[in-house]
Amino acid sequence: MAYDDQNIFAKILRGEIPCDKVYEDDHALAFNDINPQRPVHVLVIPKGHYVDVDDFTANASDAEIAGLFRAVGQVAKQTGVTDDGYRILSNIGVNGHQEVPHLHIHVFGGADTGPMIKRQD
Ligand code: AMP
Repeated sequence: MAYDDQNIFAKILRGEIPCDKVYEDDHALAFNDINPQRPVHVLVIPKGHYVDVDDFTANASDAEIAGLFRAVGQVAKQTGVTDDGYRILSNIGVNGHQEVPHLHIHVFGGADTGPMIKRQD
């Protein structure tokens, strides 16, 4: 899928719409999810234009990939979820129910995050 630079996270990165920023460095931006599913629900996104994990792992530099995951670690520390544990998740494509076509990693914490995935039976 080609990157659509009109997606909402691209607009946040360009400063065209606001976000509730949690963390930023050269490679990543993190902000609170607008519809939080747990007391801590932060989205960590790369600053580069990548649709999803497939695009990112195929096309991003090692520095960008390391930078994104270090940012996830920073966000976990900064939001205080590391002691009790937390979950990271990235939705990809139709089966993954991805809504926004700019790679993002959800960080959920501050409460039990429930089973890993809804059972099919
Ligand atoms: P996904 O289904 O993984 O693509 O999740 C997209 C997430 O983006 C959802 O959890 C939305 O609540 C969140 N979201 C959409 N628009 C915004 C926004 N403007 N600021 C913060 N979070 C947003």
